[in-house]
Amino acid sequence: MLSAIKSRPATDSQSVFFRCIAGCSAKHSIYDVIYTCPSCGNLLEVHHEREPLQKRNASEWKQLFDSRVGTTKWPYGSGVWGMREWVVPSLIDQNIVSMCEGNTNLFWAERLGQQLGIPDLWIKLCGNSHTGSFKDLGMTVLVSVVKQMMAQGSSVKAVACASTGDTSAALASYAAYAGIPAIIFLPAGKVSTAQLIQPVSNGAHVLALDTDFDGCMKIVQEVTRDNSIYLANSMNSLRIEGQKTVGIEIVRQFDWEVPDWIIIPVGNLGNVSALYKGFKLMMDLGLIDRMPRLVAAQAAKANPFYESFKNGFKEKITVTAQSTLANAIRIGDPVSYDKATKAILETDGIVEQATEQELVAATAHADLTGMFTCPHTGVALAVLTKLLKRGVIKSSDKTVVISTAHALKFTDFKVAYHESKLEEVTSEYANPAVHLPADVGAVKAEIKRRMR
Ligand SMILES: *Cc1c(COP(=O)(O)O)cnc(C)c1O
Repeated sequence: MLSAIKSRPATDSQSVFFRCIAGCSAKHSIYDVIYTCPSCGNLLEVHHEREPLQKRNASEWKQLFDSRVGTTKWPYGSGVWGMREWVVPSLIDQNIVSMCEGNTNLFWAERLGQQLGIPDLWIKLCGNSHTGSFKDLGMTVLVSVVKQMMAQGSSVKAVACASTGDTSAALASYAAYAGIPAIIFLPAGKVSTAQLIQPVSNGAHVLALDTDFDGCMKIVQEVTRDNSIYLANSMNSLRIEGQKTVGIEIVRQFDWEVPDWIIIPVGNLGNVSALYKGFKLMMDLGLIDRMPRLVAAQAAKANPFYESFKNGFKEKITVTAQSTLANAIRIGDPVSYDKATKAILETDGIVEQATEQELVAATAHADLTGMFTCPHTGVALAVLTKLLKRGVIKSSDKTVVISTAHALKFTDFKVAYHESKLEEVTSEYANPAVHLPADVGAVKAEIKRRMR
């Protein structure tokens, strides 16, 4: 324990700390159990003083980060910890809880792009990760900090979160990897079987409550007032530090070129805030010289951020989130609203929404070009289509769609779609399997019919 404390770089606590997003002056240690500003109640953010980071110039940073990709040298094989100096530099190696998250594929969606009339279309497949969603990027950071806190004798005994599915899968997995108990609050009957079974398998304490996500969020905030249970939702800004690496990673994958647009499906708004934070850091340190325009994509059934945007962000609008196939973004009162508003305003960004019909059509269409898209990615793709039609996104623009989860977590939805069993929507691309007798003649006739 003592050696852990000793090997903490001395400069770090002064240069990386929690501060209030509304500008209150206090600095708090990132190893303190604190989620909101004690003076004004606003969210905190992890602030990195720029000066210590400027000891390396832009090309030295690029070289350093490039050199770590694909290594097995602990912990640099992780896309998050490959940028360790920009995330939480004071974590010692033994306390990093990582399963090599990040470094997900950014692929050229050639055929879909051609069909939509945007040849330079790219998909960042964050679902190709340890627990199948981008939530791993944030959880590796949060659970690592908790492990270091515990090693230093903190009162924290367990971690907890409310979740629409993917957060709980990531928390349960990283906590189990570290041997820390996890308590999960889920809205009963509102997450997919594949999502529910992840924390169950990882040995978490899974509590399914008769409420929605926002209701679970209220309860977990009460429960974690006791400092022995640490809150792991994205109002805890440690998560944002990990998630911000996705934007940096995209730019690195383009050989440090900035795309024109990045479209991301949003619910609680931690994700788009994180994306902005990564870009801002790259700007400040001179790695890039312009920002991409960020597009936050919402399901029309759970669209408080879209309504607020339409309103010119004059006030925060909340809604009661309705049932949507994009269940991971079924959130009516987004916690990172202020951070996300800044992300949109400072990148000349846009918030747009997609109906259930639009999102299912977009997923099914993308799948026909070889993808396998989750409903949230469908929301982003539907929004892309709308903005192209409106001429806001130009056909020559380099555009990245962030695919947030692996669609294998959402097979119930895919099966129902292709069986034309989804309520409220028509399955225009339905492609159900055909049942035939084990008879060569019947098979040949069917193939002939189809190949015409
Ligand atoms: C959590 C999640 C989102 C939304 O991220 P927020 O930070 O809540 O805005 C989008 N898609 C998937 C699959 C998610 O799990």
